[in-house]
Amino acid sequence: MYKITSNALTLTGDGMAVVYRRGVPLQDMEFFQFHPTGIYKMGILITEAARGEGGILRNDSGERFMERYAPTLKDLAPRDMVSRAIYKEIREGRGIGGKDYVHLDLTHLDPKVIREKLPDITDFVETYLGIDPAKQPVPIQPTAHYAMGGIPTNSDAEVTADETGTVVPGLYAAGECACVSVHGANRLGTNSLVDIIVFGRRGGKALREHVKRAALPPLPDDPEGMSRSRIERLRSGRGGETVARIRAELQAEMMDRASVFRTEGSLKEMLGILRGLKERYGEVRLQDAGAIFNTELLDAFELGCLLDLAEVTVTGALARAESRGAHCREDFPKRDDANWLKHTLAYRKGDRIELKLKPVVITRFQPQERKY
Ligand SMILES: Cc1cc2nc3c(=O)[nH]c(=O)nc-3n(C[C@H](O)[C@H](O)[C@H](O)COP(=O)(O)OP(=O)(O)OC[C@H]3O[C@@H](n4cnc5c(N)ncnc54)[C@H](O)[C@@H]3O)c2cc1C
Repeated sequence: MYKITSNALTLTGDGMAVVYRRGVPLQDMEFFQFHPTGIYKMGILITEAARGEGGILRNDSGERFMERYAPTLKDLAPRDMVSRAIYKEIREGRGIGGKDYVHLDLTHLDPKVIREKLPDITDFVETYLGIDPAKQPVPIQPTAHYAMGGIPTNSDAEVTADETGTVVPGLYAAGECACVSVHGANRLGTNSLVDIIVFGRRGGKALREHVKRAALPPLPDDPEGMSRSRIERLRSGRGGETVARIRAELQAEMMDRASVFRTEGSLKEMLGILRGLKERYGEVRLQDAGAIFNTELLDAFELGCLLDLAEVTVTGALARAESRGAHCREDFPKRDDANWLKHTLAYRKGDRIELKLKPVVITRFQPQERKY
């Protein structure tokens, strides 16, 4: 339907893709958060503070449409609900001028509030769109923002390899690349700090204890061989494909088929498209084959990671025949705790993905349906 840029994932995603290629599973990758207010076509984030200060989302007729979707919280409803509402407005022809965006309206706010409390927004919008947010509404659309899934770990940031929590000795992950699963299927705003501050610290302490007693493991004959040959293959490619073309297609197709809304049909189509894109990735030819400060090579490496991660995301989303948190299957709109109160674990097995299920540990708080 339309293309939206991602403001996140690429860098964090490298870590996930690298360990995944080495046999570590990825957990719950189908849970991907979209932030409702990315600048149109760019994905640069307009912070939630804009709606916190009184900013209002409006469709083509100027209607404050969130009143229909979340009558109590309105524009301050959670990210997944607002993203879905924007998508629906656009799909039903109420995007601005029939296009694929809506407006974030700050024009009724005191210009002093905008200037003093939202200086970043003013700066971004003026720089990239030439708009004064105190006088004109800002064009926005949902943007890929945060991966709830990632490398499975326990609460000491030790990477776990299976559904029983077996630890991979000496391997630690913390931050957005990891999935301790404190956010479940839907992270609340600001809570990613927990990933870094709490679990980064806990992981650091556990790692300190580990190195005190761990012996150096035996290395294989050619430990860096796999990475070296991957880089060499990219540098020496002689096909007719470009990184930019494949990346743009990946982005557009994922947005159309596997983003805020998903169906079995759209996800199956996406798996087919991903197979094609992966084949074409093997035909990439770089303009710069150099070894020093080669940003084209970096882009090519990252594209390989994104293709792997997209495949895991789509495979998990296809398997999870329910809607939960940020994962919304239009063909299975209800949450299904009887069958799906489970984590997915995706393993790379050659060219295919093996999906296993892992039980969810529930302690103090029983899961409940969200109501607003
Ligand atoms: C626009 C935006 C706004 C956000 N606002 C908030 C907020 O207000 N509150 C909140 O809680 N969360 C927010 N988040 C989410 C939060 O910022 C991220 O989850 C968090 O920064 C992730 O930190 P990290 O250290 O795990 O990963 P990253 O910050 O992605 O760091 C990964 C690092 O690894 C490096 N790297 C990548 N690949 C390689 C490689 N192959 N070799 C060596 N190094 C590599 C990268 O250069 C990077 O420095 C926001 C995210 C975005 C995108």
